[in-house]
Amino acid sequence: MHEFTVAQLAEGLHEGRFTSEELTRALLERVQALDSRINSFITVDEDGALAAARAADARRAAGSAHTLTGIPIAHKDIFCTDGLRTSCGSRMLDNFVPPYDATVVNKLHAAGAVTLGKTNMDEFAMGSSNETSYYGPARNPWNIEHVPGGSSGGSAAAVAARLVPAATGTDTGGSIRQPAALCGITGLKPTYGRVSRLGMIAFASSLDQGGPMARTAEDCALLLGAMAGHDPLDSTSAKVPVPDYSAALAAGLEGLRIGLPVEYFGEGLDGATGTAVRAALAELEQLGATLVDVSLPHTHLAIATYYIIAPAEASTNLSRYDGVRYGYRCDNPEDLMDLYTRTREEGFGDEVKRRILVGTYALSAGYYDAYYRKAQQVRRLVQQDFTDAFERVDVIAGPTTPGPAFALGAKSDDPVAMYLEDIYTLAVNLAGLPGLSVPAGRVDGLPVGLQLVGRHFDEARLLNVGHRFQQATDWHTQAPALAGGGG
Ligand code: GLN
Repeated sequence: MHEFTVAQLAEGLHEGRFTSEELTRALLERVQALDSRINSFITVDEDGALAAARAADARRAAGSAHTLTGIPIAHKDIFCTDGLRTSCGSRMLDNFVPPYDATVVNKLHAAGAVTLGKTNMDEFAMGSSNETSYYGPARNPWNIEHVPGGSSGGSAAAVAARLVPAATGTDTGGSIRQPAALCGITGLKPTYGRVSRLGMIAFASSLDQGGPMARTAEDCALLLGAMAGHDPLDSTSAKVPVPDYSAALAAGLEGLRIGLPVEYFGEGLDGATGTAVRAALAELEQLGATLVDVSLPHTHLAIATYYIIAPAEASTNLSRYDGVRYGYRCDNPEDLMDLYTRTREEGFGDEVKRRILVGTYALSAGYYDAYYRKAQQVRRLVQQDFTDAFERVDVIAGPTTPGPAFALGAKSDDPVAMYLEDIYTLAVNLAGLPGLSVPAGRVDGLPVGLQLVGRHFDEARLLNVGHRFQQATDWHTQAPALAGGGG
């Protein structure tokens, strides 16, 4: 059963070929058997999952099932789950059991999805390799000496290893698309505001967005349909109607104009990865699309801009972890200041501290204008680049990452090398646009992704292009050897 996609599983459940309880047990057994090698889960909720599966079977028997009723999924451990530990990959929240569900969790639960557990991630979603997790790195199922990408590395690894058919992730600068690319799965970062951030632990509030990770665009469409929509409890969630994403999948690509940013195919892109991406683009051309060169002239400023804005927002968001109300508290504080400083020193890892220091510096009185205000101005220019390009094209395409997954440890001592990993994904968050990564080839046996970027709220188009591409190719069906595939 583990080879089936969400759509196939939904059909099996609908036809009564198996029950959700049987499916959930089978996947829990796989997690038991395989996850010691991948470390994709921080918490597995066996009892909760089985109870939810039985409830889903009862709901189906009563005739009130949704497509996702009884489908086991996993949530990135950044989404608050009522009564189930939510660590955000940090010692700071190792003991945190939320009293409520994130809206995303709530909505998927209401559709009847079964939560198998919570997936590994970079601490507070800061990273591109999953190596900053307090719980140790998740590993890439295609080669466990390599990183799965980050920060949603656990979700990507769990889906690639066929432990779950789908999982949630969050993307502040690439954290859905980059691990999806490196693990050979499909991941969608929706438009900022498309999916509620309520109960999604905040990293950089103007950039964070939750979205689906699955094997196919078709499955991402099913999940996004359940996750998306206005949330009166999140003032940044958009009051924009949610279309039927599944209904939009089949449209033909004739006449579609795809823009190729010249900046995305130059220096820094690994040769073999570029070749794979160009082959994928040729496939889209075969399907009827027209390829057009475009320019995003401020691309070279995106990393510097992001690495001011994201740490600045993180430094304010993370000021709440003070050892007073919840989370980690140091032992025997001498006084209030000692409580604050030792709690934060002991509770946060190095990368989180680095971000807090950078962010605090950029926001401080003497430097605000030079760094933070300037970064906001450049952000506007980056957004304008996309607006201009979308006057000429419907979708922008390029590589998701500069190369395939790197070895564990290869970049962990060099923050700048790690930050460069996000070169093609960050600008999309700065502009608030939707982005989809689909598997598009293999380099040295490891997957690489094609990224498709759309206009605001045009997720349906991205899923449509991804789906048509997947009907014509089989990269998304290939499984790593560890999961029983040939890769
Ligand atoms: N890798 C980027 C960072 O470290 C993006 C992370 C993310 O999208 N959560 O900030």
